[in-house]
Order: sequence, then structure tokens, then C-alpha cells
Amino acid sequence: MKTAIVRYHEIALKGHNRSWFINTLVENINRKLYGLKAKVSRDDSGIRIKYSDTVPNTEIIEKLSTIFGIAKFKLVETSEIEIDSLIKTVKKVLEENTLPFNTFKLNSNRSNKSYPLTSMELNERIGAYVEKLTGGKVDLSSPDLTITVDIREKTAYVSLKDYKGPGGLPVGVSAHVATLLSGGIDSPVAAFNMFKRGCSNSFIHFHSFPMVDASSREKAIKLAKSLSVNQKKSLLYLVPFVDIQMEIIAKVQASYRVIAYRRFMVRVAEAIAKIDGASALVTGESVGQVASQTIENIATIGSVTNMPIFRPLIATNKSEIIDQAKLIGTYDVSIQPDEDCCSLFVPANPATKSTPRKAELYETGIDSKDLVNKTIDNLEILEF
Ligand code: ATP
Ligand code: MG
Repeated sequence: MKTAIVRYHEIALKGHNRSWFINTLVENINRKLYGLKAKVSRDDSGIRIKYSDTVPNTEIIEKLSTIFGIAKFKLVETSEIEIDSLIKTVKKVLEENTLPFNTFKLNSNRSNKSYPLTSMELNERIGAYVEKLTGGKVDLSSPDLTITVDIREKTAYVSLKDYKGPGGLPVGVSAHVATLLSGGIDSPVAAFNMFKRGCSNSFIHFHSFPMVDASSREKAIKLAKSLSVNQKKSLLYLVPFVDIQMEIIAKVQASYRVIAYRRFMVRVAEAIAKIDGASALVTGESVGQVASQTIENIATIGSVTNMPIFRPLIATNKSEIIDQAKLIGTYDVSIQPDEDCCSLFVPANPATKSTPRKAELYETGIDSKDLVNKTIDNLEILEF
């Protein structure tokens, strides 16, 4: 069996919730490593994962690097704690990982305080051995290689490298939210950022099929599937939007149509969130990115609900969002061409300085409660 040791930082700060946070992280790691026959357990200073020698380290590294709540992790070789065993293990680790280095340092820690050697003595004894074995020179300030030796009660761990986790909080420790997922670049990134803060997500997509082709719907399905790796169960609510749009086109002045579309999206999303158990809505809006996203319009759109709407991308630039979308693997799907529902029957120059009062005035002829209820009756729900 091989071993990985996982560290978290933020979750260590959460007082009496600490245990629950760590258990959630253990559960999430178990789910991600499902099928690899790994054994995940808590130990005194982190989480320990035992996995079969047949599992490639690259697979473990790839999986652990994407689990929220993990600050860093290392792949370790287990050793007995006596100095002779430690030296043998260090030799084995150096031989197995043929890393080129000229300089190195030893970094020993003892959580077992009754151990007969101090950390300093351990560093000196093992360091002298490594110098003789490899010809490398000790450099304490900027070594090419750091060899970490961790002495616990009954075993010791030897490792060469820390890998970075994504940080954040384990998914499931914050409240559940519902993300309005278009087929575009921004909203999947918004959902990802909520996962990072420990929120599980449901997804809501509005489509105008069959008035337009099914491309945005297909993209939303692909995006929801790809985001679903971050949580136990994902629901995608597919909302037929044509009836609402027809009503808006008939009753609302052209310059306010996009705003009215969005206000109805929020009304329907709020109703879905209530069924779904979500405590907040999430969008991919960013100030000034398009005409419908001026601060005034964002306020007019948000004013139809008392439910909190989170906009994790509100102050990010498009280029930053694109970089993040590439990193999380949603970009390639998002840039495929689609027929978006909001492009139907809207003018080239929509209002940019809307007010809730005017929006309400233009919507007077619409029975919004009835329209929302009818829409909810026709939801299609997919589960991943
Ligand atoms: P995105 O890249 O997420 O599509 P965008 O920059 O294109 O965002 P808009 O099209 O103005 O911006 O949409 C703003 C936000 O409204 C989106 O980020 C998304 O949260 C929500 N939204 C827009 N269209 C839809 C849709 N068809 N279904 C669900 N949510 C949508
Ligand atoms: Mg869009």
C-alpha cells in the first residue's frame, strides 16, 4: 500500500464545527477516489489515504488537486521510527524518485515528543547520510530538494514534495445554492467559485427550444455534467422559456425586453430554489460586461426577489474569467456556438439605465404569478 497525507488550513479554524468539516472532507475524498480501493481516515494532524501500489501516483495527484478543502498534500513512504529504518527509507525514496539535485535540506518534525533524537539531530544524521550517498550539498536557504521526515507515535513518513490542493472549503459545509447556468463562459465559473466556498449547487437553464435549436440546452447539460464532479448529486432544471418570452414580446416595450426576460428568469429560479432547497441564487454577471449588466440593470433584475443573489464574478474581467474557465475545463464547451434564448426579439440597444419602477410599469399587463406557476409545471429535471 502507498500513502498520501492531506492537509487543510481553513477548516482547522472553525471551532466546534471542525470535526464535521473534516468528516465532510473525508467523505468527499472517498467519493472522488471511488473505485481505486483507497482507505481514507483521519489522523492526528490531517487525513491519511492508503491506496494500492497498482494505482499510479499521477492519478492520485490529479484527483486530490481538485478537491476543495485540501490545502496541500504529499505522497509519503511509511517507515519504522528507528533511525536505521528512517535512513533506509530515505534511500529508497531518493532512488525511486530520480530527481536531479545539487543541493538539499532535511526537514524533520516530531509529533512524538518522546523520540530520543531532536529534530535538529535527525536532520544532521540523515543529512550526513544523504551527502555521502548522493554527493549533494546541504543548503538551508534555497535547496533544490527538501526531504521531509515526519515522526509520529508508531510510524514515520518520508516525502520529497508538497502538492497544492485548491484550498477553499469542502463542498457540503456551506448552504446549498441554485446557479443560473446559461451555455456561456461565465456562469459555470460562477458555480465553480461557489463550490470552492463549500456550497453544493443545483443548476437552472432556460431555453427557447423548439423556437431555436437545442444547442444551448445541450451545452447546459454538458456543463452541468462537467461541474457535477464536485458534488455527490447534481440536479439540472431545464426550463422552457418560450411562453414567458411570447408574453413579454406582446406586452413589454422593446428596450426593456432583455431586462424583463431576466426578471422572469429570477422569478422562476426563486420558485425552483424553494422546491430544490437552495438558499440563494447565483449568476455569472459582471459589471458592464454587456448592456444588460449595468449596475442599474442588475439592480432592476434583482429587485423581483428577496432571496439573496450571489454574483461571484461581479468585479472580474472577461480575460480573468476565460482563464479560470480554461483551468476548470468548461471553456471548450462554453465557446461552442449556440442559439441563446435571450437573443430572441430584442433590440440592438436595450435600456442601460433601467429602474424597477419602469420595469414594473411595463410588466403591468402580465400575470407573473400564473406564468411562473405554469412554467414550473413544465420543468424537465435531469440528475447526474
Ligand atoms: P454567461 O457567460 O454565463 O452566459 P454572459 O456574460 O453571457 O454570461 P448574460 O447572458 O447577460 O451574461 O447572462 C448573465 C447571467 O444570467 C448569466 O451568467 C447566467 O447566470 C444568467 N443567464 C443568462 N442566460 C441564461 C439562461 N439561458 N439560463 C440560465 N441562466 C442564464
Ligand atoms: Mg450568456
